[in-house]
Amino acid sequence: MKRIASCALIYSFSSDMDGVEECLPGEECVFETLDCFGGQLKGEGDDFSSIDFSRVNPATGPVAVRGARRGQLLRVEILDIRCFSPGIVATHPGIGVLRSGIPDYRFAMVSVGEGKCSLGDVSFPLQPMIGVMGVAPEEGSIPTTTPGAHGGNMDTREICPGNVVYLPVFQEGALLALGDVHAAMGDGEICGTGVEVSAEVRVRVDLLKNRWGLKSPLVEDKEYVIFIHSASNLERAFEEAAWECSKFIQKALNWDFTRTYFLMSTTCHFRVSQLVDPLLTVKICLPREIFPVELL
Ligand code: CA
Ligand code: ZN
Repeated sequence: MKRIASCALIYSFSSDMDGVEECLPGEECVFETLDCFGGQLKGEGDDFSSIDFSRVNPATGPVAVRGARRGQLLRVEILDIRCFSPGIVATHPGIGVLRSGIPDYRFAMVSVGEGKCSLGDVSFPLQPMIGVMGVAPEEGSIPTTTPGAHGGNMDTREICPGNVVYLPVFQEGALLALGDVHAAMGDGEICGTGVEVSAEVRVRVDLLKNRWGLKSPLVEDKEYVIFIHSASNLERAFEEAAWECSKFIQKALNWDFTRTYFLMSTTCHFRVSQLVDPLLTVKICLPREIFPVELL
């Protein structure tokens, strides 16, 4: 098992980045991650507006997977997430769905432990998830605040223990990095953050053939195959995700477009992952049990 310490940090996923560690297909890796503020907020008295915003949203890594090459899918099975307390929820002017209601930089500490999170005297379930997970993109350099075909800041609740994430491999070694763990988050992440925590994430990486030609990330949970897609507005994100999903079903079932469209309309759930990052992220949840074939 490989362990990647939180001193190996990236702030962009670049097509030409180098791995800090190498692992083999089938091997387990533990990533030590910092919270999205890079550990700069330690207590209620700190001044949020004066932190170094160039150190926001670090991802730990990247790890090269031996033998990974273009045309494959990187399979990342999330085995465990250990969250450290306290967490932070924060917002500032210009961010979030209710951005007009926020006069200045605000944050609150959230205690995390024993299966729950507590904000003031209200408690809610601890449901750890990974905000940022990605690989080296096709070209250029994409900040870790932005989601895309390479993964990145997807802020999708289903990227959590027990589930599997599939990312298209664009560069040799794939180069996996992750961070921005949330102890809890609602779909939408409407103020711009979940319960932001530092954490330890244990995953198992593997490689498989990209036999359906997937161009965007996919998540698999017990019930659904979930297509993740990001775009500048929701309508476009849902439309592009729906095309990706329809092509997948047409290939997997050898169906024509119209019948596929009927199946999607009658069985798939179109949901929101997040409404606050530079691009918005949606998810299409396709029930696994209706497929007569093995999908992945
Ligand atoms: Ca995030
Ligand atoms: Zn976050």
